[in-house]
Amino acid sequence: MLLEGEVALITGAGRNGKGIGRSIALKLASEGAKICIVDYNVSDAELVAKEVMEAGGEAFAMQGSVAEFDHCEKWVDEVVKKWGKLDILVNNAGITRDNLILKMSDQEWDMVLSTNLKGVFNCTKAALNQMFKQRSGKIVNMASVMGIMGNPGQANYSASKGGVIALTKTTAKEYGKRGIRANAIAPGFIQTTMTEEMTEEAKSKVLDMIPMKTLGTPDDVANVALFLSSSLSSYLTGVVIPVDGGMAM
Ligand code: NAP
Repeated sequence: MLLEGEVALITGAGRNGKGIGRSIALKLASEGAKICIVDYNVSDAELVAKEVMEAGGEAFAMQGSVAEFDHCEKWVDEVVKKWGKLDILVNNAGITRDNLILKMSDQEWDMVLSTNLKGVFNCTKAALNQMFKQRSGKIVNMASVMGIMGNPGQANYSASKGGVIALTKTTAKEYGKRGIRANAIAPGFIQTTMTEEMTEEAKSKVLDMIPMKTLGTPDDVANVALFLSSSLSSYLTGVVIPVDGGMAM
C-alpha cells in the first residue's frame, strides 16, 4: 500500500456522497492512511469517517472552519495527540459566491477569500508547525482551472484559487529543504454539488470548452491527490496539475 502507517488531515471532506474531499478521504484510506476529516458540518464529516471505517480504514471527524486559525491549530493538535504525527494535509475546503465584479458585495468577496485562500494559509501554517519538527510532510492544495484562466462572475473565486497556486509555490520554496513538499491540483468541471447547481445551458457551454467533452469525477481528482500525497511524486514540489479534460491548455 502506498500510504501504509501515514496520517492525513483533509479539510472540507464532509460532503457526504459527492464531494471531492470525501473521495480523497476514501482513496487515501484505501492505501493505508489514517484520516482526520474536518468540516463545517460535523454530522456530514462523521458520515464520511464512518464510510472510511466501514471500508476497513481508520478515521475520525472534527468540526470547525478553516477561516479560523485556532480551529486549524486544534485539528492538528488532536491528530498529533491521537496518532503521533501528521504526514499529509489536503486543503480541500472551498466555496463559491458568484457575481459580476460591479455587483459583487464586500461580503461575497471576503467570504470566498477567507475560506479559499486564508483557510489554506491557516491550515498550512498549523500543519507546518508539526511537519517542520518532523522534517517531513506533504501538502496538497485544491486550486482550480479558474485560478489559471479567470472566469466571468467568479472574480472572488478565481482570485482565491490563483492565490492558492502562488501560496503553494511559496510553501514549496520555503520548506523544501525541510523535507516538506507542497503541490496543487487545478480541477476543471467535476461532477459535485458545486457543478450540479449549474443550468443545462451553462453545462453545455462548459462542455464546448472541454476537449474531452465530459465532466470529471471526484475520483479523477482523488487519484491525483493520492499521487501527490505518496512517494510516487517524491521529487515533485510547487507544481500545479490540471484535472480538467484538457480545458486549460
Ligand atoms: P463541496 O462539495 O462544496 O465541498 C466543500 C466542502 O467544504 C463542504 O463540505 C463545505 O461544507 C466545506 N467547507 C466550506 N467552507 C468551509 C470552512 N470554512 N471550513 C471547513 N469546511 C468548509 O465542494 P467540491 O465540489 O467537492 O470542491 C472541493 C474543492 O475543489 C473546493 O476547494 C473547490 O473549490 C475545488 N474545485 C471544485 C471543482 C468542481 O467542479 N466541483 C472545480 C475546481 C475546484 P458545507 O457543505 O457545510 O458548506
